[in-house]
Amino acid sequence: MRELYQEVILDHGKNPRNFRQPEDANCEARGNNPLCGDQLTVYLKVDEGRLIRDAAFEGRGCAISMASASMMTQIVCGKTVSQVQSLFDKFHKLCTGEMEEFPQDEFTDDMEKLRVMSGVSRFPMRVKCATLSWHTMNAAVAGDNETTTE
Ligand code: ZN
Repeated sequence: MRELYQEVILDHGKNPRNFRQPEDANCEARGNNPLCGDQLTVYLKVDEGRLIRDAAFEGRGCAISMASASMMTQIVCGKTVSQVQSLFDKFHKLCTGEMEEFPQDEFTDDMEKLRVMSGVSRFPMRVKCATLSWHTMNAAVAGDNETTTE
């Protein structure tokens, strides 16, 4: 388990980045992971060109869910909605252990940062903690205001 809680996860879990509710957010969704008790709200500001100008979250949950949300808000900011949807697909595969190596592409740097979460692949319960914020972000851009891992 120690390997799962690497330093970077502990740091983001303790000091989550972008932990706030932006006043000008125009997309938001609530995510719920009843298995662990993680609950969070993701706020996005998406412009007319579907570019994410701001990303933030609030909520409470385990270190993995908070750290993942914190990292996600940093990574999605400045990307388009379609880019973050492709990135979510890769991140999900990383968390479930379906993909261990990633092709060199526009997301390589981001996947290197997110690789720290790959330890969850051996703990199926934890996969939902790690992917909750991404599912919630996906729901927010799709216009669904509520999502659950169940
Ligand atoms: Zn959790």
